[in-house]
Amino acid sequence: MGLLARLMNKFTSAAQTPKQPGVEVTKDAVWVYVQCSKCGEKLALRLRKSSEIQREEAGNLGYQMFINKTIVGNKCFNRMQLRLEFDGAYRVVNKQLESGTFITKEEYENSAS
Ligand SMILES: [Zn+2]
Repeated sequence: MGLLARLMNKFTSAAQTPKQPGVEVTKDAVWVYVQCSKCGEKLALRLRKSSEIQREEAGNLGYQMFINKTIVGNKCFNRMQLRLEFDGAYRVVNKQLESGTFITKEEYENSAS
């Protein structure tokens, strides 16, 4: 686990916020809002729960489901590495993004020109 991941863990466990900016969980999908750190493009991703979420079998890691996803935007070839971890109720307990940043849904929608 990298330094960033450890920092994120620390932050998440300290904050204990059920609401995670940049990630919205709906009935059958997980929406992720990110911004490319290279070109600034804002992206919204819809990840289907049925196909994208994997179960963590170990069971004692503080999360029960996770998503690993490489995101590539339309404007450049920067590859953003997304990782989300969920508890059994699909609540995000940890999230990481390399080469990009999480933005809010509002920030994404306001950028639409
Ligand atoms: Zn980009």
